[in-house]
Amino acid sequence: MNRPSSALPGQRLTEALQRIEGRGYKAYKSIAGVYDLGRFRLSIDHVQADPFAAPSRLSAEVKHSVAEIPAHFRSSRIRRVALADYLTRQFGAAANRLARGHRGTGKSGQIDICCGGQEILERNSVIVEDDLIEARFTAGLPAAGRRILARQAADMLLEELPAIVEASLFHSSLDATALERHVLTTEDQQALRDQLEERGLVAFVGDGSILPRRSGIDDRPMRPSADRAPVPFESPPSLAVELDRPNSGPIRGLGVPPGVTLITGGGFHGKSTLLRALERGVYNHVPGDGREWAVTHPSAVKIRAEDGRSVQKVDISPFINNLPLGQPTDEFSTENASGSTSQAANIIEALEAGSRLLLIDEDTSATNFMIRDARMQALIAKEQEPITPYIDRARELAGEPGVSSILVVGGAGDYLEIADQVLLMHHYRAQDARDRALQVVERYPSVRKGEAEFRLTPPPDRRPLPRSFDPRRGRRAVKISSRGRRTIVFGSTRIDLDAVEQLVDPAQTRSLGLAIHAFSESCAQRGATLREGLEDLGRRLDNSGLDWLSPIKVGDLARPRLLEVAAAINRMRTLHVQ
Ligand code: ADP
Ligand code: MG
Repeated sequence: MNRPSSALPGQRLTEALQRIEGRGYKAYKSIAGVYDLGRFRLSIDHVQADPFAAPSRLSAEVKHSVAEIPAHFRSSRIRRVALADYLTRQFGAAANRLARGHRGTGKSGQIDICCGGQEILERNSVIVEDDLIEARFTAGLPAAGRRILARQAADMLLEELPAIVEASLFHSSLDATALERHVLTTEDQQALRDQLEERGLVAFVGDGSILPRRSGIDDRPMRPSADRAPVPFESPPSLAVELDRPNSGPIRGLGVPPGVTLITGGGFHGKSTLLRALERGVYNHVPGDGREWAVTHPSAVKIRAEDGRSVQKVDISPFINNLPLGQPTDEFSTENASGSTSQAANIIEALEAGSRLLLIDEDTSATNFMIRDARMQALIAKEQEPITPYIDRARELAGEPGVSSILVVGGAGDYLEIADQVLLMHHYRAQDARDRALQVVERYPSVRKGEAEFRLTPPPDRRPLPRSFDPRRGRRAVKISSRGRRTIVFGSTRIDLDAVEQLVDPAQTRSLGLAIHAFSESCAQRGATLREGLEDLGRRLDNSGLDWLSPIKVGDLARPRLLEVAAAINRMRTLHVQ
């Protein structure tokens, strides 16, 4: 972002506010500008049109020489991400504490910053530059009806806001120990994830991790209560490895090698909880989350059934063939996929986008996609069954294509036969059950036949056509919005991301909408493949940051993975590919 070199004295903001007291709301526009408030600069970037509109966008810039946050906390990319995350959370907490909040009509009085949940993501709520820190936030400029309450605005902007900035962006007011822990723990998590490949692993779960969550809608760690307590994770000795952390020293835990790994065990014994921790292990977590030391290969994709989704020319033939009406499946399209075809498409699309690790839970899979047992094979001949179940492809994927699977399977014993590793969850404790599984396979030989009829080939690259992406809505040439984590509205196209489970933050969803637009403008136009387009997008985000996505200065974006960008494009019902 270009920064204005000069700022008006703070007194000018006071005077501007005095002039508009009691006037119609539009007069607020006159206070836009950059003001020098002593220890920081306040920039009023965009003034809302009325008290009910999206609140005004503001930012505060503090020079490093004034904020005095030690330089080593911003000495690398990951440290800057962690520092920005920490400062965002502090700003948010200070705003909650120090902003009076409701003081008039609509959003009057609110001061907000876009904070994350349990994950530490790259975001643009706080930007750490070479010479300064910038916090971007919103404020509801106060009014009674449509009449400006300028004295209230002066209190907000010239009393509360400086107090919030003082409390959250200056090193002297921060908890130095907590800040250091936040930054160094994040760096350690990244280092663990970066070590996976060289150590020949696809995932790692540190001993002592707390994996269960407070509830299905509360992602914070489970708290001990009268009737239950979280059981800390402990690796079975035969699968234990030790990894290095640059700041906290070595850590022991479960190392998951490539290949096919089963998580099995009785119902309610913690299988899905372990898999969910691995799904989220592609992200770093805040200290105290319990999953800091559960890290997964960055390309891991959760695969599930998603009936009803649209699919555009995906080669699902490795899994589905000979459909009843003779529809071809090497370029399969549908507006309304079934459980099994959606799961097949999700896999092929993940491979196309570069995934090397698939995470599958029987709870959210189509049974007929996972397995066809011997009795079903006897009843329904192969020629009459379009599906080649996953069990007949998992080993092959783990071979030359180098795509590992971690599967939660408690019901289909045929899977024991194809597993490289078998983890058995018993009372939330993981056991190595590989030898026992082999014995069972020997004792109860399966008469099930393999059903794959031809070898897997890498999915063909698709080229999304520019006409897939129409960002127009009403009179606006570009209108892209999002609703919560789950929905993007791109132009007039709704994209449903409910089943894209590794999308974790509404701020990521917001970025996804803009990323699709960037993809369409810069890649689809020149006929790039989806894969090329994603790589290009990744490079630009690395070089220019999230601000590259937005034509205006905002602070509410967080970086999604490219795999989720692909997932969103693939779910567009307007998608056309070559
Ligand atoms: P499964 O998939 O084996 O049926 P879940 O993973 O869904 O089991 O876990 C069942 C319940 O046990 C959930 O309520 C979950 O929060 C809880 N749980 C999971 N892991 C632990 C643990 N390590 N300690 C305590 N409770 C746990
Ligand atoms: Mg389960």
